[in-house]
Amino acid sequence: MVFWEAYGISDEVMGTFAPIAVYWIYGGLYHMLPTLDQYRMHSRKESEQQKTQVSMGTVVKGVLVQQAFQAAVALVMFSLTAQPDVKVVQQPLLVQLGQVIVAMFVMDTWQYFVHRYMHINKFLYKHIHSQHHRLVVPYAFGALFNHPLEGLLLDTVGGALSFLVSGMSPRTSIFFFSFATIKTVDDHCGLWLPGNPFHLLFQNNTAYHDIHHQLHGTKYNFSQPFFNIWDKVLGTHMPFSLEKRPDGGYEARPVKNI
Ligand SMILES: [Zn+2]
Ligand SMILES: [Zn+2]
Repeated sequence: MVFWEAYGISDEVMGTFAPIAVYWIYGGLYHMLPTLDQYRMHSRKESEQQKTQVSMGTVVKGVLVQQAFQAAVALVMFSLTAQPDVKVVQQPLLVQLGQVIVAMFVMDTWQYFVHRYMHINKFLYKHIHSQHHRLVVPYAFGALFNHPLEGLLLDTVGGALSFLVSGMSPRTSIFFFSFATIKTVDDHCGLWLPGNPFHLLFQNNTAYHDIHHQLHGTKYNFSQPFFNIWDKVLGTHMPFSLEKRPDGGYEARPVKNI
């Protein structure tokens, strides 16, 4: 028995709301850190300039709207796929791990093609995806600063497909969706902290996604949230070097001319 069952909370409700809570907790931890100039990927001056164009309040409101959409669709999806008469038996851990890996590939594949198409299609870029790119200097709370339709198409449909194709249980999905959320927040954290396990384990990480957010980088590094396979296969991979800025911190610099 897991602790939320004792409170009468179903796995489906947890699968819907845990990733939202995790987003604000993990993002909040980054937000509470001191300035840490020596690890920043953009100067403080750049961040301040950005805040004059898009305020933190606008970003937080935007994220809350997209999460409300996300929660509504997730609840519908769970209720459509639920089999109330069937007692769901949790698979052995190794099987669940396999399901999570399948789900990671499904999510990456869906997000790569939809994300890239949103850059190719001028109408979709202008009216939907450009909202996310208002953050040229990414920060943790801005990870899901998306137009609600983008949240729906990219994250929610992507999440539903990963769930359905992998065959994972709602309980496994709680962990998978929470992990995907943490990874997405980390990719936008704007800091290159020593020993960050995501930076060690994933080539697609904060610096990789920072290239995509740079003004000239939007034709590259579409892959998200886990691997960089599709960028490599389809020639949109931009190698980069991490260089120390003279005023402290790091800069992800594309290796090829763009
Ligand atoms: Zn982003
Ligand atoms: Zn983009």
